[in-house]
Amino acid sequence: MIIMKFGGTSLEDASAIANACEIIKSRLGRQPAVVLSAAAGITNALIRCAELAAQGKRSEAETILRDRIIERHYRIIANLIKGLREQDMLIRQFKLYDEELRSLIYGISITGDLSPRVLDFVMSYGERMSTAIVTEALRERGVRAELLDARRCVVTNAQFGRAEPLFEPTRAACESIIRPRIEKGIIPVLQGFVGADEHHVTTTLGRGGSDFSAAIIGTVMHTDDIEIWTDVDGMLTADPNIVADALRIREMSFREASELAYFGAKVLHPSTLLPAIEKDIPVHILNSHRPQMDGTLIKRDITASDIAVKSISFKRAITILNITSTRMLGSYGFMKKIFDIFNEHQTSVDLVTTSEVSISLSIENAPALDELVAELRKYGELTILREKAIICIVGERLKSERGIASRVFSRLQDIPIDMISHGASEINLTFVIDEERVPEAVRELHEEFFSSISEPGIFE
Ligand code: ADP
Ligand code: ASP
Ligand code: MG
Repeated sequence: MIIMKFGGTSLEDASAIANACEIIKSRLGRQPAVVLSAAAGITNALIRCAELAAQGKRSEAETILRDRIIERHYRIIANLIKGLREQDMLIRQFKLYDEELRSLIYGISITGDLSPRVLDFVMSYGERMSTAIVTEALRERGVRAELLDARRCVVTNAQFGRAEPLFEPTRAACESIIRPRIEKGIIPVLQGFVGADEHHVTTTLGRGGSDFSAAIIGTVMHTDDIEIWTDVDGMLTADPNIVADALRIREMSFREASELAYFGAKVLHPSTLLPAIEKDIPVHILNSHRPQMDGTLIKRDITASDIAVKSISFKRAITILNITSTRMLGSYGFMKKIFDIFNEHQTSVDLVTTSEVSISLSIENAPALDELVAELRKYGELTILREKAIICIVGERLKSERGIASRVFSRLQDIPIDMISHGASEINLTFVIDEERVPEAVRELHEEFFSSISEPGIFE
């Protein structure tokens, strides 16, 4: 059995969906379960509707719902589905979605209240819509597809907006709902990104979370492979929006790819690989526009090579907090108190550097930065640096290769560096710069490490 996950750009219109259906058909012998994102742009449009409603702009929200969400799906249905009866059935289903979303918009607009719980419910329509259409399209192409509700399969905690999976109940649910279908030769089609808590309340796994859904289902069902179908040739040596001639990486270790995903490579949701690592399930990143390409294979053991740097990623919207306090000198327990504060405010820290009297920490989008800052001020003098970015250079051999850091920092000598982290056993070299210098820094580093690469075994 395998999981095949298709992202939004692989489902953006009728021809993209027809193409995805052909790819699924080419894998029928491997017993696929299909996990889908919403069509590209739909999740953003749903969020926009909800936000406008919360601002009392009900008619603007309804316009977006009609023009950018419902009409768009009607067009896809008209261009994709041949059977009139099937078209009619889907259109009736979408009329219901339309009515429900209108009621939600109305409710949000009169209360002015958009809780994360309500937003998750609104966002879930994107994936429910795409899966309804793709299931029908597969059936018309002779595939025994069945639409399932991921909310019955992926059980999460109740952290709306970034829910975490509960693996045991998820495993039990997937085994009782998905497995029997696979055994009967049915192709289950499920929504990515969406789950439900133990009381069946709809949750979502965080933006880009369909990759994570694929990995969760693949892991609990112990599939042979997890395929992530997207719009690029695989994991690349840098973000192609910044470095147009970035190279495809043929193979990566779980650790390398996890670092990249965590530090901003959007092609994989940051949590995707964690479950796959545990059960040692390979993850393939493949291009739905060029299905004949090999893509990137991510697995535990990779072919040894002399290449030290595999890829460069970055994460924007980083804030640095510097705490200086003479109370730190020679005292223990200080760090614990500081980290307890981050814990209480549910804020995760990416990089940490310390000296005898100061500690610097980098964080992203802290939900309650003001409260966090007020607490931290009790422990020392605090300075805050905003609009920063983390740059991350990754490679399994980084730790053993000498001279990488000096190449990095001499190449970037004109760019001020705020923090550096390079642990002894680490496979990444990570540092913080001004956000506006990101494109320049990434291009310089790409030039430094990849301009003279001629190792067809690893890059292409
Ligand atoms: P999907 O809709 O398939 O989930 P995403 O937009 O979430 O696709 O992720 C794919 C995009 O990730 C690519 O189009 C590319 O612009 C971006 N990206 C950023 N960094 C990388 C990288 N290192 N390798 C590949 N793609 C990257
Ligand atoms: N549709 C969701 C999003 O746009 C999840 C995903 O595409 O992975 O974030
Ligand atoms: Mg994605």
